[in-house]
Amino acid sequence: MACLTGAGISAESGIATFRESRGLWNQVPVEEVATPQAFARDPLRVWQFYDARRKQVATCAPNPGHLALARLEEGLGERFTLITQNVDGLHQLAGNRNVLEIHGSLWRLRCTGCGEERDDRTVSLEPLPPICECGRMLRPSVVWFGEVLPEHAFQPAIEAAESASVFLVVGTSAVVEPAASLARVAAYQGAALWEVNPEITPLTPLCERSWQSPAGPVMDEVVDLILDDFK
Ligand code: NAD
Repeated sequence: MACLTGAGISAESGIATFRESRGLWNQVPVEEVATPQAFARDPLRVWQFYDARRKQVATCAPNPGHLALARLEEGLGERFTLITQNVDGLHQLAGNRNVLEIHGSLWRLRCTGCGEERDDRTVSLEPLPPICECGRMLRPSVVWFGEVLPEHAFQPAIEAAESASVFLVVGTSAVVEPAASLARVAAYQGAALWEVNPEITPLTPLCERSWQSPAGPVMDEVVDLILDDFK
């Protein structure tokens, strides 16, 4: 059993989603803050954006959708894989221990010189940009547009999709690749696709079950059904 989450599961925690009309990326052009070229051109501007995101996300708490998925991990243990495109860390705050963060994390920093990575929940990181002990600049350990996904997270995510009997997709528009392909891989290998999303997505026609609803009000019911199936 595997679950892929997207920005939608954190919407009810007050975190703006990616592509919706009032979403984050309509306020700030992607090419100014979320590409390696932008960071090379103006690291301070990129860091101001990410430091502001860290400050905002630090004020947010997991919602009932996150908590239901923590209960799912508690019930299924290693039979459950949680894959997230989110970088906000709310699944871990809800109690999930095994989270494949395929787009990285706002709370992890990577040195542009020595490559060292470390978790850091300090808010804020000012003075910006933050500097590594080796003297080079740190960057957010998130996946920017045009970058490859981290192998250590994406490889097990593919394996989980290939072997899942049920693949649940929550709060993703399913248009960002290669994350969206995980659901297609799962379906191709015979998994039943289940979806929770208030909107129709490109995956909806492939789904065996779909809840056209925000995650919060229905995730407990969805998790109960899965726990029943896997008894
Ligand atoms: P997206 O914005 O493209 O899609 C969000 C989806 O969530 C939409 O289909 C929308 O209908 C649905 N949705 C909205 N409210 C919902 C709710 N209450 N419950 C369930 N679904 C709801 O997001 P995506 O598909 O995750 O796009 C991927 C990119 O966005 C990733 O690269 C991710 O790293 C980045 N991102 C992450 C965060 C975060 O960490 N919280 C926030 C914004 C963007």
